[in-house]
Amino acid sequence: MTGARYIESLRDGREVYIDGTRVDDVTVHPAFKDMIGELARCYDLQNSPAYRDEMTFVEPDSGVRTSLSWLLPRSAADLKLKRRNSELWNEFTWGQLGRSPDILAPYIISALHLKDAFSEVKHPRCDFGENLANYYRYCLENDIFLTHALGDPQVDRSTQPQNQQREIPEDEQVALHVIEETADGVIVSGGKQLSTAATHANDCYVALSATFAMRNDPRCVLAFSIPLASRGLKILAREPVSRWFGSWGHPLQMLDEQDCMLFFDRVLVPWDRLFMLYDATPMIKMLGAGGGSVNFNFLGWANLCRAYTRMKLITAVATMVAEAIGVIEYREVASKLGEMVTYCELWRHAMDGVEHEAGPTPSGQWSLGPGRGLHIWFAQTSGRMTELLREICGSGIIMQPSENDLANPEIRAYLDKYMRGKGVGVDYKSRLFRLAHELGASSFGMRQDIYEYWHGGDPARNRINLLRSYDQSAMRGRIEELLSRPLAHGTTS
Ligand SMILES: Cc1cc2nc3c(=O)[nH]c(=O)nc-3n(C[C@H](O)[C@H](O)[C@H](O)COP(=O)(O)OP(=O)(O)OC[C@H]3O[C@@H](n4cnc5c(N)ncnc54)[C@H](O)[C@@H]3O)c2cc1C
Repeated sequence: MTGARYIESLRDGREVYIDGTRVDDVTVHPAFKDMIGELARCYDLQNSPAYRDEMTFVEPDSGVRTSLSWLLPRSAADLKLKRRNSELWNEFTWGQLGRSPDILAPYIISALHLKDAFSEVKHPRCDFGENLANYYRYCLENDIFLTHALGDPQVDRSTQPQNQQREIPEDEQVALHVIEETADGVIVSGGKQLSTAATHANDCYVALSATFAMRNDPRCVLAFSIPLASRGLKILAREPVSRWFGSWGHPLQMLDEQDCMLFFDRVLVPWDRLFMLYDATPMIKMLGAGGGSVNFNFLGWANLCRAYTRMKLITAVATMVAEAIGVIEYREVASKLGEMVTYCELWRHAMDGVEHEAGPTPSGQWSLGPGRGLHIWFAQTSGRMTELLREICGSGIIMQPSENDLANPEIRAYLDKYMRGKGVGVDYKSRLFRLAHELGASSFGMRQDIYEYWHGGDPARNRINLLRSYDQSAMRGRIEELLSRPLAHGTTS
């Protein structure tokens, strides 16, 4: 994929709506073009002499040069290559893209690892495992940018997972479900809440989250991947974040990756794009993989790499802010910065640990060690880091002059005098604080915080699932043995 090819691939007639209006061409629409331009820049970088060898490889069977995001890891060295590729994607995008092309590729790779389990669910029209393998090749050879959609619309969670026990009439059904089977595929209708990047990804991998996989109505049990331009698929984009005047007013606004509702209205899913139908067993196995239950932990690795860049960014901005207003020597401030550095360091050690526990799987791929606890921990900790950033900034996080203020000679002298920092001019200080504002106070920053908390699914559910799969037997055995010993001093009768 190159930047130009990527932009061209989005001129596909997809049905996108924003603020009540249908979008003709996402690549030129003001709400989307900056994000698309950033990704095009990344695709060009991955093909540039500087990064080509660190971000792409030549796939031996096809001879195609493609992204390392699509490499099936078969050795510890492959894992290192993939980690470096993820680091670069995140350096280019400041660790802000939860749904970059690099982050969703592992979904197909992880599912492919369970190819045989997907094939075990039988259907006369297709072999689901073979479909996965063929789809993987298609993605690999074309460097496809995937997003995904897992959850049901937030209509009535009291029956969660929706449709579990009762038959819901067709016209009340909101969860995505099969309407009918045809010679070409299945016809599906229903909604998905939500799908980040659906405005500018190529395909959408539609499946079930750990919550929604536990349902009894087989019509709602399905997984597939189709182009976002599929007929009948309507994409509703939310209001853009961080739009304001001034070129440095919102320094990360070009990384607004959008979040969308998907409405499927009798969409055809071809037989060769279906990975699961009416039986969720393979999906439940795959979702369990993060805890090591099927010995292939890869799903969230690129996301862990992303989190590290984000943590280092927030910490460095907070440090530079503390220097710029002369508070870094204060014990309380330095201690808060130290807390942030502690998180960065813990994360680095933990990622090294996940790599250290890597090993081969029976199918010849190379799996990382378990990392589910890390995802949960970051959902809790990301918000703490932006809270610390806000505390260190004080009111400066909101009170900065704009670029136009600085250009106005009538007030410029006051800005130079009253809005400068310690050893730094007002221009530098305001740009630095606007970056802090973007991360910790703007609509962009709030969306990122909300994203970090929720994107991996409900953290409470994830903590409970981790507890249930956590082996405490050794320590419990020791405790039971301790408790069963006779009391040292006996008892009085
Ligand atoms: C910015 C952002 C981007 C996202 N991107 C994607 C994406 O690209 N693809 C994708 O598939 N998903 C995406 N998600 C969805 C994400 O996975 C969900 O937000 C998450 O799983 C929580 O579901 P929900 O938002 O429907 O909240 P709900 O499940 O409706 O939760 C609402 C409240 O009810 C509570 N609650 C719900 N059920 C129960 C229960 N059974 N018991 C007790 N309390 C309960 C929750 O804790 C919460 O407080 C994204 C979310 C956000 C915020």
